[in-house]
Amino acid sequence: MRIAAAVSREATAHPGIEDVDLEAPRPDEVRVRIVAAGICHTDLHCHSGRGMPVPKPIVLGHEGAGVIEEVGAGVTGLARGDHVVISGGSCGVCPSCRSARPTYCRDAMKLAFAGMRADGSSPLSQNGERIAGSFFAQSSFATHVVTPARSAVKVPADLPLHLLGPLGCGIITGAGSVLEALRVRPGQSIVVFGVGSVGLAAIMAARLVGARDVVAVDIDRARLDLATALGATAAIASDEAALGALKEIAPDGFEYSFNTTAAPAVYEMAIACLANEGVAGFVTRPIGEWKANVALLLAGGRKLQGILGGSANPQTFIPLMIDYWRRGLFPFDRLIEPFPFEQIGEAWAACAAGSAIKPVLRMAP
Ligand SMILES: [Zn+2]
Ligand SMILES: [Zn+2]
Repeated sequence: MRIAAAVSREATAHPGIEDVDLEAPRPDEVRVRIVAAGICHTDLHCHSGRGMPVPKPIVLGHEGAGVIEEVGAGVTGLARGDHVVISGGSCGVCPSCRSARPTYCRDAMKLAFAGMRADGSSPLSQNGERIAGSFFAQSSFATHVVTPARSAVKVPADLPLHLLGPLGCGIITGAGSVLEALRVRPGQSIVVFGVGSVGLAAIMAARLVGARDVVAVDIDRARLDLATALGATAAIASDEAALGALKEIAPDGFEYSFNTTAAPAVYEMAIACLANEGVAGFVTRPIGEWKANVALLLAGGRKLQGILGGSANPQTFIPLMIDYWRRGLFPFDRLIEPFPFEQIGEAWAACAAGSAIKPVLRMAP
């Protein structure tokens, strides 16, 4: 079928909307009419070529939410009309998939960034010419996608779908890191470095679980204010004095730190602020030279822990976050700023500049 999709081409400032052809769903896939899709920094980096290499032209987008229009012949458990949030791709049979840790699937990186299905095909083309698709098993900067049924998470039909897409990446990464990966417990302490959508979700989750000290560190004053409004117990400007300010709050160090930034100096601080046997979680690679201070890790029995997708299982964790939100315990909607699909250029710029915490493109009213 003919759809509208935002295509990323070389040497362009942002993806541009074009007419594209979408294959029918295969037996294990569903076709989803996208209602809205969040923009994540991973999309920005893949478009500009500064992130993981992706083939071009490609349709990016990996925080899609919408309504199932067609189910493949072999799909069970999903039906036409179901509302879904789409998470990343996973194989379903490797050890990580079998233990409900699909973000560590042995094929996860390929299914995210290769611009194709597992068998090498792309569901997208334009007048017979291949367009890379299946980005994070979806390519949701489009009016429609086909996605594996196992990547579609059914959500209640009475919820505002245009808010839910970011639950599939940014929000699950922050909340899952605190609740599933680090497993912060009541009365414990955590420092969150970088309070964009991932860091703010982590702060809300830390408060939800009853952490005592939840400290936000960022360069942006407005974001620190929002972090405080969402439950941070202290907010600290990210500068040379930050480590000293953290030591004042917790002279013996914090049980956890959570680093959402790529700055080598922040990686350093995220370990230096830890108590003995503390854990430093991180979600992206440092940009630039950085070597972990192994002596500091060793001397205090500290750990450095990589985390993808919050280590969470989207099929169970997305419904859990929705449930917390309904009870007023997890107001992730405050991070979201909607833009009409046609204004993808403005939304892209707002994401890059940080003026919108979580821009979301709305394909349908
Ligand atoms: Zn993302
Ligand atoms: Zn797998």
